[in-house]
Amino acid sequence: MAEKSRAREDRVITDIRDQAKTESQRKADARKKRTIAIVLWILAIACEIAAIFLFRKLVVLWPCLLAIIVDAVLCIVAAQFWKKANHIDPPAGRFWQNQFGAIMSVIAFAPLIVIFLLSKDVDPKSKKIAVIVAAIAAIATMGASIDYNPVTIDDLNEAELQALGYGGECYWAKYSKSYHFDPDCPTLLRSKEVFHGTIEQAFEEGRTDPCDFCANGKEEKAQSGE
Ligand SMILES: [Zn+2]
Repeated sequence: MAEKSRAREDRVITDIRDQAKTESQRKADARKKRTIAIVLWILAIACEIAAIFLFRKLVVLWPCLLAIIVDAVLCIVAAQFWKKANHIDPPAGRFWQNQFGAIMSVIAFAPLIVIFLLSKDVDPKSKKIAVIVAAIAAIATMGASIDYNPVTIDDLNEAELQALGYGGECYWAKYSKSYHFDPDCPTLLRSKEVFHGTIEQAFEEGRTDPCDFCANGKEEKAQSGE
């Protein structure tokens, strides 16, 4: 007979329900984060234009390379704000708004790389270095800008509906993307640090995957054909 699993002795459950925001606070927070992201993307495009200008008027290479790196850093930071906003206030569509960071990373690098490759009057060695640095920056930016865990408003509504039966509350571990309704769920008992919050807080923290054992995750996956 299977023995009922027991929680580890040092398990700590941190209750963060008192930090839960109202819906209008969440929307305002998401709007602020989206605005910051857009400002950072505009600055990134300015860096891209500067990099192109510096490349065409090339005297020394490093200012151009610096502009490419600043372009990448701004895009990566912008995408983190954008992704966080989408978890606080999920968009209706899965692709366009969720992956806007990835789309912006193409806009912030593709024209630059094409112009570098087409430039004829720059010495070949500088051209090679600039293209390699731009390509690496573009790949890193794209990798950091994709939302690997995209959510839509339908996902949140469905989770909220399910959570109603548990007072709108759930639990999640420090290192996992699942949310649980049962604090004594077998997969949660192994964790040392567990958080107790609202379903909206779980989504904000990136816990958007219903647990297979206690939150009907299996059923949901079967329905959506995953
Ligand atoms: Zn569970």
